[in-house]
Amino acid sequence: MSNSNKGRNRPIRPEKKGTGRSVGDIIRGLRKELPSEDSYRERSLKIHGLICAKCGREFDDKDRRLLTVHHKDGDHSYNPPDGSNWENLCVDCHEDEHSRGILADYLKKP
Ligand SMILES: [Zn+2]
Ligand SMILES: [Zn+2]
Repeated sequence: MSNSNKGRNRPIRPEKKGTGRSVGDIIRGLRKELPSEDSYRERSLKIHGLICAKCGREFDDKDRRLLTVHHKDGDHSYNPPDGSNWENLCVDCHEDEHSRGILADYLKKP
């Protein structure tokens, strides 16, 4: 009696295949995961109106790009839907707001 040790068939490893997603799909997915500034921006403009909260400059649809959303507590990820952390500021006032903060920090240093 001979042990018929037939040729051991190695199990075929399943080939790793891609998930079938194209590079474009992946990039699109990544984009979706990024916090979309436009979504809260539009919301803030709707709640607070197309007007700078500081200098009162009014904007219309043509130059609304110059009106930016400032986060009062400085936390860009804190976006309560009631708009309580947002302030619509024109680019000039927005810059002023932040540079004053930087200056204040600077002056506080010993
Ligand atoms: Zn302004
Ligand atoms: Zn800001």
